[in-house]
Amino acid sequence: MSEYAKPLPVPTVESEPFWEGCKRHELLLPQCRGCEGYWFPPAATCPHCWSTEWDWRKASGRGKIYSFGVYHRMYHPGFESDLPYVLAVVQLEEGPRLVSNVVNEPAEKLRCDLPVEVVFEDVTEDATLYKFKPAS
Ligand SMILES: [Zn+2]
Repeated sequence: MSEYAKPLPVPTVESEPFWEGCKRHELLLPQCRGCEGYWFPPAATCPHCWSTEWDWRKASGRGKIYSFGVYHRMYHPGFESDLPYVLAVVQLEEGPRLVSNVVNEPAEKLRCDLPVEVVFEDVTEDATLYKFKPAS
């Protein structure tokens, strides 16, 4: 694997299980034991009912593009060879919205509400990123 030139996630105490899940190619979300709501980013308290009783659950990985932008300008040298690339807000079936790239489809074919599914990219030995592609 060649040297990865883009920024990598820096797991926190709250987000480390999420990134460990990505390494196993599992998209995990916190789910409240009380109200059964999901949320993201990871936090110690349910934002729906303030409960601190919750578990990590494997999410479906399915959602829809809520919004997206096409980057034609380089803001970080690591992304130069990707231009143009798509950054999207994806609304998961479980409710939370995640931000990531949409891959495997030209930007001009994307639209809001397009069904997408998660894909995982093992970028280094220690880091796996989640991205989305149009649902098959
Ligand atoms: Zn709750």
